[in-house]
Amino acid sequence: MKQLEYFLANENATITVGDSLATVLLAQNEHIDKVQSALVVYLKGDLGAGKTTLTRGFVRGMGHQGKVKSPTYTLVEPYELPPWQVYHFDLYRLGDAEELEYMGIRDYFAENCCCFIEWPEKGAGILPKADIVIQLDYQDEQRTVKLRAFSVRGEDVLQRYSALLK
Ligand code: ADP
Ligand code: MG
Repeated sequence: MKQLEYFLANENATITVGDSLATVLLAQNEHIDKVQSALVVYLKGDLGAGKTTLTRGFVRGMGHQGKVKSPTYTLVEPYELPPWQVYHFDLYRLGDAEELEYMGIRDYFAENCCCFIEWPEKGAGILPKADIVIQLDYQDEQRTVKLRAFSVRGEDVLQRYSALLK
């Protein structure tokens, strides 16, 4: 279970990927005490590929009821969803990865946190490694998504994710 790949026929399918990941994490709440660091998810893909759309599905799935704005200018949008703290990053406009140090980025990667990061390439060298990398690609007017695990924890989440879809 290192990689999952799906065709996403419409926007709703993209939202559902995020929502299902939230379902997996919420079902794992009982394990939160044992976890030492944030769950880190990188979102890759061109402009308009659906990174924010997928994250919106996740944030709503985690229980947020208001708007989910793209943090294009603020770089990060926090959501307090006890027991989780969700951070949605969009680093597209980040000039230098070192600026993340000034933002006090370490606080965002604590144990009860979950970080979804658009344009993680911009933070290379400073960002913690990803547990899961989500790659969104255009397929004509529609999309495909690949989910890859890069840690034991990431593999566990993807395992549960694929089981959920069955
Ligand atoms: P990004 O954050 O990657 O720049 P956005 O999520 O902001 O992209 O925008 C994605 C656009 O593509 C939105 O207009 C959304 O409605 C659309 N979209 C998302 N998923 C799909 C899909 N599976 N098929 C077709 N259109 C999609
Ligand atoms: Mg975006």
